[in-house]
Amino acid sequence: MSFKICTMGELLVEFLANKQNQRFDETGEFIGPFPSGAPAIFASQVAKLGFPVVFFSCVGKDAFGKMCIKRLKADGVITDGISTHNKANTGSAFVTYKGLNERDFIFNIPNSACGLLSFDHIDANLLKDCNHLHVMGSSLYSFRVIDAMRKALDIVKSNGGTISFDPNLRKEMFDIPEMEASFDYIIDYTDIFLPSESEVSYFASQSSESEQTTMTRLLNKGIKHIVVKCGADGARYYGKNELNNSYSLHLDSYKINAVDPTGAGDCFGATFVSLMLAGYDVELALRYANASGALAASKKGPMEGTSTLAELAQFIDSQNHSIKQ
Ligand code: ATP
Ligand code: MG
Repeated sequence: MSFKICTMGELLVEFLANKQNQRFDETGEFIGPFPSGAPAIFASQVAKLGFPVVFFSCVGKDAFGKMCIKRLKADGVITDGISTHNKANTGSAFVTYKGLNERDFIFNIPNSACGLLSFDHIDANLLKDCNHLHVMGSSLYSFRVIDAMRKALDIVKSNGGTISFDPNLRKEMFDIPEMEASFDYIIDYTDIFLPSESEVSYFASQSSESEQTTMTRLLNKGIKHIVVKCGADGARYYGKNELNNSYSLHLDSYKINAVDPTGAGDCFGATFVSLMLAGYDVELALRYANASGALAASKKGPMEGTSTLAELAQFIDSQNHSIKQ
């Protein structure tokens, strides 16, 4: 099946604290720069699988920007939609882990080059044969970017395309009001929804609502596939069968030595969306996505764990997988 994916948003370099519990207010060692940005990781993973993907972003005229573009090109991402700005430097992020499930970030995104991404940067020519748009909630950090995203969404929808949406909320971003306001808009167009477990309650109609109820309501609204990502606990899938009845599947995660889970959700999403568009059945797409997330978590650096289809197949082969109904 022929398809082309588009995504857009933050492209930045990340510096990773060398020690667990390393503080940001004390001098310490960091490793990096690593190319990063949730939609950039998503694009890298789609390209590594061998599928066409256009990525829109902005970098500064600096070595960090050059490094990011070079890396995405090497992975096979179509980078013509990445503009280089004179007025701002490439975005950056610092991350420190407090145990494997909790981490703090310091982001420099809205005031960096990728914060300048706007309507005019979305080249309709690059989108003329795109039939899928992936939206990262973390990318909706300004009215400018939301405008750009709506332009891409309109073009992809007019091409008869589909939309996937990963809220990818970060506690450090909660005070960006534009971001929250745009979520309702995106949800109405979403075909594949990829929240984290911690984000589910954000989409509930009331605080006591169960996950199942929230998901059934979203499926009835027209979302076709939902995967709730649960880190080392795997993932839960919600969809509808041929009779239009809702059903769910639980997916155990693969057992790996997790060293850096940042980027795992982006790789999981990229693999699930790509393989669904490629015509894989839901269970097989989930199995590959699960492997993609696991391999991402097992490598240091947010984009360092992206995998080819052959690497995923080999990894799955070497593991015992289980899908429980
Ligand atoms: P983030 O908080 O970075 O946005 P996320 O919530 O989008 O992350 P996760 O749930 O952390 O995504 O990870 C996505 C998928 O990757 C999981 O559903 C699982 O399949 C796999 N994965 C993540 N962490 C691990 C782990 N420690 N061991 C095995 N698999 C993992
Ligand atoms: Mg995520």
